[in-house]
Amino acid sequence: MSSTLKTWVEVPELSDFSIYNLPFGIFSTTSKTKRIGVAIGDQILDLNAAHSLRIFHGLNIDKEILVNDYLNDFIALGKNITNQVRLIIQEHLCDDSSPLRKHEPFIEMSDATMHLPVKVGDYTDFYSSIEHATNVGKMFRDPENALLPNWKHLPVGYHGRASSIIVSGVDIHRPNGQTKPADEPPVYGPSQRIDFELEMAFIVGKQSELGDAVTTKEAEDHIFGMVLFNDWSARDIQKWEYVPLGPFLGKSFASSVSPWVVTLEALESFRVNGPNQDPEVLPYLQYEGQKNYDINLEVLIQPESQNEASTVSKSNFKFMYWNMAQQLAHHTVNGCNLNVGDMMASGTISGKDENSYGSMLELSWAGSKSVKLNNGEERKFLKDGDTVIMKGHSEKNGIRVGFGEVRSKLLPAK
Ligand code: MN
Repeated sequence: MSSTLKTWVEVPELSDFSIYNLPFGIFSTTSKTKRIGVAIGDQILDLNAAHSLRIFHGLNIDKEILVNDYLNDFIALGKNITNQVRLIIQEHLCDDSSPLRKHEPFIEMSDATMHLPVKVGDYTDFYSSIEHATNVGKMFRDPENALLPNWKHLPVGYHGRASSIIVSGVDIHRPNGQTKPADEPPVYGPSQRIDFELEMAFIVGKQSELGDAVTTKEAEDHIFGMVLFNDWSARDIQKWEYVPLGPFLGKSFASSVSPWVVTLEALESFRVNGPNQDPEVLPYLQYEGQKNYDINLEVLIQPESQNEASTVSKSNFKFMYWNMAQQLAHHTVNGCNLNVGDMMASGTISGKDENSYGSMLELSWAGSKSVKLNNGEERKFLKDGDTVIMKGHSEKNGIRVGFGEVRSKLLPAK
C-alpha cells in the first residue's frame, strides 16, 4: 500500500472511507434497486454504473452480479477478481482523466438506504477475548479459576442463528422469554437484562470441501472482509437456559452488523502481533506472521429523545487471544465445510482496562454498579429507547480505514 494516493473525490478529513479503504456494500435509492456500491468519503460508487463505463473490461463480470440483493455472488468470484475490482477503482479515483470523473456514477450516502451486505449462510460466534472470558468466569464461576480448562487450548465457539442477523438501522424489540428469579420458580416475560456485545465478524469468501481442514496458513484466503457486530444478549434468559448446551434464545433474537464490508486487503497495513499464547497450542493452531489487526473500537449509548450519545467503552480488536486464522483452522479441523457468506463473530472484545470492557455485563459487573451517561442518567443494562452505536477504525501514518458504524435502537417488548 502506497502512502501517497491522492484522489480527486472530496473525502472529509476524518472519513472512515478513505481512498485506502473502498469497502463493499449493498445500497438502494428511490430510483435504483439493490446493488453493489463502494464507499468513498460521503459518497457511494455505483459499481454497475462504473461497469457500464467499461472500467472493469477484461474481468468478465455480469451485470446480474452487480445489480444484486447481496454481495455473495460477487464475493464468490474470488479474491483474484474482487481484489482487482478494488484496485481498479482505487486507480480510477486517483486518475484525473478517469471516465468516473466525467460521468460521476456516484450517489450521496445520505440519499441511499444500506442493506444487509451478505445473505448469511451459517453464523458462528466465538469467545476469543481472554479479558472477556476471564471477567465472565470471575462473575459466574470462580474468581480464582476464571477460565475453564479448555479455553487456552482451543477457540471456544458455538453455532448461532443466521436468520436474525440484521443491518445497522433496523431496530429491535426487547425479547420475551423464560427467566428464573433467585429462590423462586421460573417466570415468563420481557428480559430485564438486555445487553450489547462489542464484536467484529468476518465473512467467508471462499468455500471449502466437506472433509477438508483449512490450515492457519490458508485461512486468510478464505476471508473476504470484516464488519462491526453487535451481538445483542439477554443475560437473564441466557443465565437460566445455557446449561449444558450453551447459548440459545438469550442470543438468537438479534445481532446487528455494519453495512460496509472492509476487505482484509484494506486492513493489511494494520496487522500487529497477537498476545503470547501460553501454553503452546497444538500444531494445527500454530501460525506464522502477524494475524491480529489494530482496529480501534468504541461503544456509545444514546438514550431516547436525546441528541447526545455517551461513550461507554473503548476497546481494540488487537486484544483478541485467538486470531481469525486460528478460529477458521479450528472450525474446519473436523472437516466441517465453509460456504461463501458464512459469518463468524469474534466474541465480545474486552481489554484489560475497566473502560474497555465490551458489554454492560462487564461494565456494570453483573449489575453491581452503574455506568454513568453524559446527561447524568445511569445504566446497569439497557433501557427501552436506548440506541447502541458501535464504531471502528484503524489509523496509521495518517491513513485511516474505518467501518463506519452499526446502530440499533432497543424498542419495548411486544
Ligand atoms: Mn457473542
